[in-house]
Amino acid sequence: MDIAINTSQSRYHVNEKGYYGDFGGAYIPEMLYPNVEELRENYLNIMRDPAFQQEFESLLRDYVGRPSPLYFASRLSEKYNSKIFLKREDLNHTGAHKINNTIGQILLAKRLGKKRIIAETGAGQHGVATATVCALMGLECIVYMGSVDIQRQAPNVARMKMLGATVVPATSGSQTLKDATNEAIRDWINNPVDTHYIIGSVVGPHPYPDMVARFQSVISEEIKKQLTEKTGKALPDYVIACVGGGSNAAGAFFHFTDDESVQLVAVEAAGKGVDSGFSAATSQLGKPGVIHASKTLLMQTDDGQIVEPHSISAGLDYPGVGPFHAHLYESGRAVFLNATDNEALAAGYELSLLEGIIPALESAHALAKLKDLQLNPEDVTVVCLSGRGDKDLETYIKHLK
Ligand SMILES: *Cc1c(COP(=O)(O)O)cnc(C)c1O
Repeated sequence: MDIAINTSQSRYHVNEKGYYGDFGGAYIPEMLYPNVEELRENYLNIMRDPAFQQEFESLLRDYVGRPSPLYFASRLSEKYNSKIFLKREDLNHTGAHKINNTIGQILLAKRLGKKRIIAETGAGQHGVATATVCALMGLECIVYMGSVDIQRQAPNVARMKMLGATVVPATSGSQTLKDATNEAIRDWINNPVDTHYIIGSVVGPHPYPDMVARFQSVISEEIKKQLTEKTGKALPDYVIACVGGGSNAAGAFFHFTDDESVQLVAVEAAGKGVDSGFSAATSQLGKPGVIHASKTLLMQTDDGQIVEPHSISAGLDYPGVGPFHAHLYESGRAVFLNATDNEALAAGYELSLLEGIIPALESAHALAKLKDLQLNPEDVTVVCLSGRGDKDLETYIKHLK
């Protein structure tokens, strides 16, 4: 396995100034500058170190369970009269792709001599992935979470506590993800020396989007190898992934960006419908602005206030996309589709019944667009199955037809 941290010269990847086209950068308060600058100066050197790569690879193999299988879904393929493969990130330890990134960042934090880890979480999935690697490494873990989310996501709060993390409620504003993010940033400003902030997606100030994309790029690295073994060709016709902040999609697209024959398909959450006022389809509804210290597309009012997003899946319920995706959208390199709550639910049921795999509701958004792609029988499609659906059972059952 090769985590491909030396090869970033695609024009779709970050430039030396920390931008993807017009998007990215580090719009940070001055007090955060030393922390972000320390990370920016060191992250590539640390990631290039062979000893670091070896430690990362061996944990991905023995702890996470990589490589994750590339599974030919024969009954699903029959249904759509095409060739459909699923990249099984749902089989990773903790049930999703997020652990790839938290493993990478905790190793990086250790190299930087950090003793204390902070994170923010909305639905709790990133909080659990962070608490997991902190337990693994014996580091202190503080997770900021909106008080409303703490109530809504009790099982994940219990998991974090069992893993030894301290869950701190964010009680300001809407008491959800963006308020938790504010608290985490405040903590980092106050603890610049001993603390690393683990961000969970390809969002935040440079170098986070690039760093997280590189840790997740193991997904497309493996897809190329596995597809060659299975079909004799490294390049599929389509790669489809759901986009919240965009980390599983960034990982699934990373090594295909320069292969222009590969159609990259990003699927956002349309919620109750793009124009319903209850949506998270950022590329369709968003305008350029700054969120989480990065210039990107985000849903905002005319005077720049963030609009509350809506999606049935907590992981896609985010008012922005990372700058890499904003650039893929603006440049036309990826096509951006969206799936409603109901389409995602139907796709989740369909995969369960056709393949015996209950997908995360996030991943179900990607599956929901198979019907809209007009696939040919010879087309090879890879769907990034970002996570498993155990956490969503209650929602699925509530909507059982
Ligand atoms: C968090 C999550 C997502 C959304 O995050 P991205 O950064 O867009 O990948 C998607 N799928 C699952 C299973 C998740 O837990």
